[in-house]
Amino acid sequence: MKNFNIDETGTTRRSFLGASTMAAATAALGTAAATAQTPQGVRQGERDRSASDPGPENNAIRQQQPDAFLPPPTDHGNPQTFWSSFSLMHRRIQEGGWARQVNVHDFPISKDIAGVNMFLEAGAFRELHWHVSDEWSIVLSGSCRLTALDYDGKPWVQDVKQGDLWYFPAGIPHSLQGLGPNGCEFLLVFDDGSFSEEDTSLISDWVKHTPREVLSKNWGVPANAFDSAIAQIPPNGKYFFKTPIPPPLAQDQAAASRFTPLTTRDFSFRPFEMPPQKSTKSGNVRIVDSSSFKVAQNIAMAYVTIHPGGMRELHWHPNANEWQYWIAGKGRMTVFFNASTARTQDFNPGDVGYVPKTLPHYIENTGDTDLIFLEMFNTDRYRDFSLNDWMTHMPPEAITQTLNISREVLDAIPRDNYAILPH
Ligand code: MN
Ligand code: MN
Repeated sequence: MKNFNIDETGTTRRSFLGASTMAAATAALGTAAATAQTPQGVRQGERDRSASDPGPENNAIRQQQPDAFLPPPTDHGNPQTFWSSFSLMHRRIQEGGWARQVNVHDFPISKDIAGVNMFLEAGAFRELHWHVSDEWSIVLSGSCRLTALDYDGKPWVQDVKQGDLWYFPAGIPHSLQGLGPNGCEFLLVFDDGSFSEEDTSLISDWVKHTPREVLSKNWGVPANAFDSAIAQIPPNGKYFFKTPIPPPLAQDQAAASRFTPLTTRDFSFRPFEMPPQKSTKSGNVRIVDSSSFKVAQNIAMAYVTIHPGGMRELHWHPNANEWQYWIAGKGRMTVFFNASTARTQDFNPGDVGYVPKTLPHYIENTGDTDLIFLEMFNTDRYRDFSLNDWMTHMPPEAITQTLNISREVLDAIPRDNYAILPH
């Protein structure tokens, strides 16, 4: 529930109590009343005075971060920021496509996951390449043709569409190509926070920087047959380039398997062809990890949808840090950092969030449309613990005596890990 809002001039209005009446009353009562502690331990009088903001303000950012400007009274301390956004990042725009990334360079809290957001026009290639990190991806819009070579030398060619996933383990050579009519936008997630999309092994860059006589010996072809062609490759390789839209999938699969049959391993996965693992009246969660998507040995996903008024319940993850990508709607998250420290931040589409391993958190839909976001983990298996599930499976006195709550309150708490509440 929002207890305040900010109008277009940046003036703060407290709607839950008459702010000016309250200020006048506390001023009349003097210093003691003005600094009186509320039950939450907040100096309410000081907060009211401090809510005025006469100086410069970036109102666009401030309106997106209401819980930074007026934190809930339960927030305390100053933990490392766990919010970032692809919308802040430089876009590498080239003929055929663009890319931008959030990695540890700009988002220091995330040391074990980096994200890249990329778009390819219809026909355009992200050229044949590989890299030192595992690559997980979800298609955000449009469709894409993928190629790879498996460990046993067997080719793989497949198309993916919105909502589909792919996964290329470190060192597996692969390419991406936008399909018609509108190309493809996707999110890439890598299992290393220092990964950079600028630092991948490109076939054109490698060939460009290999002595021509060595290429000639390697390919069994005289150097003058390819010398001028390779001279036309840009000094840093191609990375993106425009081409015609490829032929139908079956035709490309047949062409790629002209010497060796296609691999039976699948580097893609379709999470929307299975029911969600958790579903309540307030939303659902789709979990994809190595138990269902065999090739995804180091990155696990939960695709979370929360309807208006719903909440991803209080929980934590025992085995990995959580890196979030916010797809649709609006929400807020409080992360409890232990030692009385807690911070609430607000999120919008295109934003990135982060929760260190084992730290408690919840996510609340604060908008009037569905909130959709990804929980991503650098691990082989998704795992979480629910506060409610824990509290309702212990000897009751252990809970009632610790939290001073009655047995009636304890008995009313949902008795399972529903993930999305109310259930
Ligand atoms: Mn790649
Ligand atoms: Mn979580």
